[in-house]
Amino acid sequence: MPAVLSPTYREVCLWQEQVPREPLPADPLPHEVDVLVVGAGYCGLSAGASAATAGATTLVLDKEPLGWGASSRNGGMVIPELKAGPEKLAKKYGQLGRDLYAEVDAAFDHTEALVKEIDCDYVRSGQLYLAHTPSHTPHLRDFAGELQRSGQDVQFLDAAQVRERIGSTAFDSAIFFPKVGGLHPAKFHDGLAKRALAAGAIVHDRTAVTGLRRQAGGFEVQTTRGPVRAAQVIIGTNAQMDAAVPELAKRILPINSYIIATEPLTADQLQLIGPQMMVDTKNLLFYWRLTPDGRMVFGGRNQLDPVDVPTAREFLYDNMVRIHPQLTGVAVEYAWTGYVAMTLDRLPHVGTVDGAWYATGCNGTGVSLNTWLGDRLGKVVTGQEPPPAFAELKHPAIPLKPLSSSYLPMVGRYFALQDRR
Ligand SMILES: Cc1cc2nc3c(=O)[nH]c(=O)nc-3n(C[C@H](O)[C@H](O)[C@H](O)COP(=O)(O)OP(=O)(O)OC[C@H]3O[C@@H](n4cnc5c(N)ncnc54)[C@H](O)[C@@H]3O)c2cc1C
Repeated sequence: MPAVLSPTYREVCLWQEQVPREPLPADPLPHEVDVLVVGAGYCGLSAGASAATAGATTLVLDKEPLGWGASSRNGGMVIPELKAGPEKLAKKYGQLGRDLYAEVDAAFDHTEALVKEIDCDYVRSGQLYLAHTPSHTPHLRDFAGELQRSGQDVQFLDAAQVRERIGSTAFDSAIFFPKVGGLHPAKFHDGLAKRALAAGAIVHDRTAVTGLRRQAGGFEVQTTRGPVRAAQVIIGTNAQMDAAVPELAKRILPINSYIIATEPLTADQLQLIGPQMMVDTKNLLFYWRLTPDGRMVFGGRNQLDPVDVPTAREFLYDNMVRIHPQLTGVAVEYAWTGYVAMTLDRLPHVGTVDGAWYATGCNGTGVSLNTWLGDRLGKVVTGQEPPPAFAELKHPAIPLKPLSSSYLPMVGRYFALQDRR
């Protein structure tokens, strides 16, 4: 069904529009710092705050205006999960697998502690993981069992229970995860920026890092506003990694994810759908939720190669009203896109490239994890804590990355075919 567009429809991000930012002062950059952080998203700002709190002179640089990146454009779902379940990870990695899950939990707790200080409309609303075809129900039943054995308080729901909760007949079953929350991504980002500044970090936007050179006692960091010497460097650029650190760029595939936001819904529509976060079982998955101001945001993609925002909007609207026919005729007011960082094993990665620490590879679920990893890396470089367990994972390069634009469409079509089963 073609999207109904609001007279005020625009291709900008709802969250960013709701949190206008004051431009940061363009003071001269310091010539030398203890810690230089590349990227001012959740990861970089958290790293900046924890390094500065430890007393290190800290500079956080972002090439775009503050609040431009994925950290202000995402779905706002705070999810303590990885793509693989705890038993699968323990089977593959032994104790390391268990440690990774413990860190995912620590990241969630860290975020819930932060949102007590940062006003960002956080609610622990739970999440439904919804079987988009009956063939996925046995997997969901097994997965629910695996999670329950690992101590998680999840519930398996059949189709009738799903319908009762969200008023949709589009799903055969679901798992309900009570320990998931939703926040306003741009408000959370803005709060992290203020926290980093309050801790004493210097933050500059519109200043790109263009190269890193290792030298005695640290690094010479090339920026678009001149060189800065830094004893330690943290790279928090996630999917946005570019030519500045080519060794890291080889290991990440930036993939677009698209979101539409509707006009505010009626009280009956809000009541029927409920406050929980929602995601389905497809490879090319949909994720959706209600916003704090009563809209539906509905995100996803139908292929791996990029499309323009209007094309994605049509695809998303059609699926939103298929899942929630009660929203037929509701107008779309916003549509936007952002990059997620995919890795070969679909796990986040932490490590060093030529002595500089990095955290990347959110694979679409980095709100709590990248925030926590940034905080942790700030503590690692200031000698307060050892590296996280994620640093023990091997981080493989993406095969034939320079040719990815020619093979991604085929991989996407394969995923879409699998999703029909
Ligand atoms: C549409 C969308 C929906 C998502 N939904 C969810 C969700 O619901 N839940 C969830 O957990 N995760 C979600 N994610 C993922 C989540 O947004 C990310 O994991 C998280 O924001 C990553 O934070 P970050 O700080 O690591 O990276 P970013 O927020 O991407 O920040 C990186 C920053 O680095 C800067 N940068 C890059 N190169 C340079 C350079 N050379 N010099 C200076 N600066 C540079 C960029 O400008 C950018 O601001 C979603 C992502 C997208 C795009």
